Amino acid sequence: MEEQLQKIYFECLQELKQIGIDFQNENEFGTIQIVLSNRSKKRYGVCKQEEPDVTTRYIEKRGRKKVIKYAKYKNHKIEISGWVMQLNENIIKNTIIHELIHCIPNCNNHGKEFKKYAKYISDKLGYDIKTVGNKKEDYGRSNIEYQENITYKYKVQCKTCGQIFYRNRICKNFIQKYRCARCNGKLSVE
Ligand SMILES: [Zn+2]
Ligand SMILES: [Zn+2]
Repeated sequence: MEEQLQKIYFECLQELKQIGIDFQNENEFGTIQIVLSNRSKKRYGVCKQEEPDVTTRYIEKRGRKKVIKYAKYKNHKIEISGWVMQLNENIIKNTIIHELIHCIPNCNNHGKEFKKYAKYISDKLGYDIKTVGNKKEDYGRSNIEYQENITYKYKVQCKTCGQIFYRNRICKNFIQKYRCARCNGKLSVE
């Protein structure tokens, strides 16, 4: 799987180079390393920023607080979640490119600059780079059955309309206390 990731990553680099973004240019983007990670079942990937370029330091105000930020980092470590690798290649590439955009100066968030690049790349190369992925949709597109909320402890179902929802914790008199939010029917817990 690691090998497959490196292969697809390399393809992404080639495609992006063709539209004028050369991530192998270390002066511009710093060094980039990409690895698989099986730590998260939730997130698609992450881009860990290391070694800020101190000349790009700026201060951001958050209410009364002042936060020190850097526009540019020298090293980036991208982790792609193992579960993503079973999806369509197109979705894997979306994920890789999303994390690559975070390596561009001023794109260490999902703000204006990030969105600008996401749109440019999506338009030019026909991708669909989003700020937040939709797991259910992406499983569907890959023809893989999506088991929702598999980690929850309780499955609650309305006896009247059949609506299902999940909880990790349930209070003692849950069934007596609560009714279905949709139809006010009685609930059952499994
Ligand atoms: Zn992101
Ligand atoms: Zn109901």
